[in-house]
Amino acid sequence: MALRYDGQTVVVTGAGGGLGRTYALFFASRGANVVVNDLGASTNGEGASSKAADVVVDEIKKAGGKAVANYDSVENGERIIQTALDAFGAVHILINNAGILRDVSFKNMKDSDWDLIMLVHLKGAFKTTKAAWPVFRKQKFGRIINTASAAGLYGSFGQANYSAAKLGLVGFTETLAKEGEKYNILANVIAPIAASRMTQTIMTEDVLKALKPEKVVPLVAYLAHADTGETNGIYEVGAGYVAKLRWERAQGTLFKTDESFTPASILNRWAEIEDFKGAQYPSGPNDFLALLESAKNLPTNAQ
Ligand code: NAD
Repeated sequence: MALRYDGQTVVVTGAGGGLGRTYALFFASRGANVVVNDLGASTNGEGASSKAADVVVDEIKKAGGKAVANYDSVENGERIIQTALDAFGAVHILINNAGILRDVSFKNMKDSDWDLIMLVHLKGAFKTTKAAWPVFRKQKFGRIINTASAAGLYGSFGQANYSAAKLGLVGFTETLAKEGEKYNILANVIAPIAASRMTQTIMTEDVLKALKPEKVVPLVAYLAHADTGETNGIYEVGAGYVAKLRWERAQGTLFKTDESFTPASILNRWAEIEDFKGAQYPSGPNDFLALLESAKNLPTNAQ
């Protein structure tokens, strides 16, 4: 059974190349109306050109699909959503994919390296989502896929700015999932790995061959489908590998919060603090209060 998207409108940001292009081609081939957004910027966010989006729109149309181009920066996300509404009268699926890099050691990172990364990745996803949100709520349907990175989940040399923005998108997604669920707005976030101009200089030819962007598409398409019930998920995906991630918290130690709670008491109980035996998998701030309640039975420093 092929999952199809007939009558649905999909907005893909940064769809002029790399992963975004493959998403756009796929959704169009499965019946969706596609907004191909791309600023046509360089990998480090310089310049602009309508060509990147136009080429993908042409490709879709030649194959018999429906697509329109949008050349705005995601910083002006409301214009991208407006393009969808003007052309197709709706938006159902939003894939926040546009991205750039400003890799530099933290020692040499400038304010401008930090600010531009935050603007494109975080503010960009905020702006498109903010504009699509009322439409999603009204129609009681929305699918949002945000794009994080292993750099954000784990850290990566030379990418303090990018890592911060990418993990920011994880928190953004988790909250959207919570606020959207009752309106059937489902939000998930992926940390993809794929051959693109972003990775072509840091990987060997052989590795790049295994990392075709097309191998990320099935997960994104599944998460975007009307039949999926998945929300609040974090996934690593690439080269045909797909895995879900979750937060893990050690069982921990509850200290008595009197004068006995000192740095030395932390030192003495460090092994327990970082012991992941009996770990928990929290999914919201309230879990912490529940934990405190249940932790009353844990050994304390007073013993
Ligand atoms: P890519 O450079 O091929 O594609 C990114 C696209 O975004 C480009 O076409 C670019 O013109 C566009 N873009 C840049 N700034 C924009 C803006 N302000 N507004 C609209 N469009 C803009 O890179 P890719 O590898 O396909 O990356 C896609 C997404 O996946 C990015 O968010 C990236 O950070 C993320 N990612 C990629 C990898 C990977 O291995 N390729 C790994 C982790 C995360």
